[in-house]
Parts: sequence; structure tokens; C-alpha cells
Amino acid sequence: MEDPRISRVKPRSGREIVLFPLPLQGHITPMLQLANILYSRGFSITIVHTHFNSPKSSNYPHFNFQPIPDGLLEGQASTVDFIALVTLMNVTCVGPFRDCLAKLFSDASNDRIPCCLITDPVWHFTQAVADELNIPRMALRTSSISSFLAFCALPLMREKGYLPLQDSRLEEAVPELPPLKVKDLHVINSKDPEDVLRLIIAMAETMRASAGLIFNSFEELEPTKLAECRRRFPVPIFTVGPFHKQSVETSTSLLPQDRSSISWLDKQEKPKSVLYVSFGSLSIVSEAQFLEIASGLANSGRPFLWVVRPGSVRGSEWLEALPSGFLEGLDGRGHIVKWAPQHEVLAHPAVGGFWTHNGWNSTLEAICEGVPLMCMPFFGDQRVNARYVCNEWRVGLHLEYKVERKEIEDLIKRLMVSDEGDEMREKMKSLKREADECLQDGGSSYRSLQKLTEYLVSF
Ligand code: UDP
Repeated sequence: MEDPRISRVKPRSGREIVLFPLPLQGHITPMLQLANILYSRGFSITIVHTHFNSPKSSNYPHFNFQPIPDGLLEGQASTVDFIALVTLMNVTCVGPFRDCLAKLFSDASNDRIPCCLITDPVWHFTQAVADELNIPRMALRTSSISSFLAFCALPLMREKGYLPLQDSRLEEAVPELPPLKVKDLHVINSKDPEDVLRLIIAMAETMRASAGLIFNSFEELEPTKLAECRRRFPVPIFTVGPFHKQSVETSTSLLPQDRSSISWLDKQEKPKSVLYVSFGSLSIVSEAQFLEIASGLANSGRPFLWVVRPGSVRGSEWLEALPSGFLEGLDGRGHIVKWAPQHEVLAHPAVGGFWTHNGWNSTLEAICEGVPLMCMPFFGDQRVNARYVCNEWRVGLHLEYKVERKEIEDLIKRLMVSDEGDEMREKMKSLKREADECLQDGGSSYRSLQKLTEYLVSF
């Protein structure tokens, strides 16, 4: 049965888009959102996915799902060394993916005309497969444009001597990549650091060879970086974000969302009083940091909703490290869940700040709801996003030096109850306005989506 919210869309044209997300939460979510957007434009959708972290197909009865074996052995499917995992899967998935794609495209009929493949660019092997089968392939980069360009610059950063990172140079500015400091360069730890550079080079080369790039961002947010990206990647580029504001709200969550987040927020009487705290689907803190975070939240005196993902505190299953009676001692001022309905939380009138790890989805979701940020990036593009939030857009405060209770308490107070915090809230409001406007008839993302649709139909 079709979801009644979805039946308002254009009639199916018979044209089908095949999408292949990288099996990590922050990559699956925008890919499925893009699929929903394209579905609403009249395309049929097939999602090819690995067994590892497979999306919940029951949430998408209107899509066709094609699982492929990922070739991972017991114990290899760990996201601790993300680079090692995707390097391996770029090899093990080649055969199964080629067979699946060849079948999908050769089984075309009048009702089903597959016209284009859209993959995450981290799946760089897919370009060779698409070339071999003569299928146009586009890439959806799920990060910001700014952090994507900084990522591509890592080989140059090594040539210039910024990498490997040296403690004495961490605070230096990187003149080639303003406003970044040396410490903001994407550090992704992996057992073989060469794997990171090989991955970037392969990704950038296959993006240049692709039929086009899609970003979950909007022109007004990153105008100079978009222009630079167009110069450096001479293929059609479409900025059609923010995705989640255009597609029907279907849960892409790999973990069950705890609805008590919303009922607890409903009980908060003061608007914009609550700090929402979540560090995404991958970040891990030490037990010592966890205790500093807990004390900082308690000492700030502000109400907080805190997502502690199971396994996100090193050495603990969930909350064992928390001092006994911690929540009880707060008398209802704090609420902890394993996973929250984040879009709804950020849109809730009681929420006035978001302590985030600055994953791109979380950052963009906060912009769309006008919620200012407290930034604590962990790795990869998060550091770049945090720098842009704090130094370029000026809508957040950076917890940059120490994860310490006093520092945390002070920053929370500055964000939630100070003129400085109010100023950032105002700036966030104007970014939110731009995000709203770019999606309206004639807005930049609206027009870009129009062009993308025409482009896809032309294949
Ligand atoms: N998310 C959620 N509930 C939570 C925490 C996160 O639904 O309790 C979602 C969030 O809305 C975002 C995604 O998980 O869409 C996290 O993606 P992001 O790029 O921010 O970070 P990553 O998990 O990739 O580090």
C-alpha cells in the first residue's frame, strides 16, 4: 500500500534511478532522503545495499531494495577503523555490485527504464563498473562542500608539510584553506594512514570522471566554495539541500528512536531553555571525558536532553560510568536517551541550543531549525564544519581545547543565557531563513533540483 503522504507525487514516468549508499548512518540518511525527493519527482527508485547496516526497507514500501553480499567476514564489519572498512568493501563489493547492476539495467522494460546510477563517492569502484556497463554514474557527496574541498586538499597538505600533524603546529592557520587551522585538517585514524590518501585520490578522480555531483547543501551557505568546486570539478554540480526539508519524514534511523525525548521536552515550560546533546552515530568518548561532560551539564544549571548511544563510552555498555544517583540528583532537569528523533527534537520550541559533534547532517539540521551550536568535533569533516560554524557563519561556540567540566559549564552558560548566545541565535535565524527560501519556488535549491531532474531524464 502506498503511503498516503507519498501518493501526492507526480505519476511514475517509468524512469528509474538506482542508488547505492555507503552503509553508515550519516551517509545512508541523505541518500535515502535524495531517493525520496527523486521519487516525488516521478522517478522509480531502486536502492542497492550491503547486508552490513542494511536500511530498513519496511520504511520505504515505495522503493525496490536489492541487497548484495558485502563479502565481509565475521568481525570485519566494525566501524572503529572506518577507512580500513571502506577500503576493504571497495574490493569485496565489486563482483556482487557489477552482477546486480548488470541485471537491473538489462531487465529494463517499458515500465522500468533505469537511466542513472547515483552512488556515494566513497564507493569509488562504482565508476569503473558503470563505465564497463555504459551506465551514467553520478555521485552524492554527503558532506558540506567546504569540508569536501578540504578533504581533497589532504595530499597537498602533506606535500606542504602540515601532515602528519605535529603538536607544535596545531594552532597555525592554513593559508591555503581559510578559516582552517592545522588541527582542523581531516584526521581519520586508520591502521594504514596511506589508505586515507589512496581513498581521497581515488574518490576525487572518479568524481571528476562521473556524470555529475550532488551536494546536500545550498548555494547561499557556501557560495565561494561552490564556485571553487565548479572550477576544480568540471562536471555538472547540483546543490539541492537541505534534503530533509523536502522529503516526507520517513525514519532513516538505524537505531530505535526514543519518543520519551519529545514527551520530556513537552513538559519544559520555558521556550529555548533546553540544551540538546548528541554526538552522532560513530563518536566515542573516554570514561574520563564522559564524566566531565556529565558534570559540566549538571553544573551548568540548564535543562538538557542527552543522547548517550550504547557503546559510545569506551569500556561501558551504556551508563555504567555515571555516578549513581546522577539523574535523580538533578530533579528532572536532565533526560538521557539512547537515540532521539533528532529532527523533531531540534524543531521543538523548548530547545535553545545543540551540543554537537558537527557531523554534516546534524549541523545542517540545526541550521534548518535555527538552533545555535556548541561544537565538539571528533574527527574527519566534523572539525571543518565546527570551524565554519564558529568562525565563518558565527553561529556557535567551540569547545576547542579541553573537555573539562568548568570549560563545559561556562560554554553552556554563554550559549544558553548571554547576549553572545542571543546574537548567535539571531544569526542562526537568518541562516534558517536562507535555508527556507532556497527551497521555495525560484530559490537556488529549487532551481537546482529542477535542473537535476531534467538532467536525469536526458540520460
Ligand atoms: N540522529 C538521530 N538521533 C540521534 C542522533 C542522531 O536521528 O539521537 C541522526 C541525525 O538526525 C543525523 C544523523 O543521525 O541525521 C547523524 O548524522 P551526522 O552526519 O550528524 O553524524 P554521523 O553520525 O555521521 O557522525
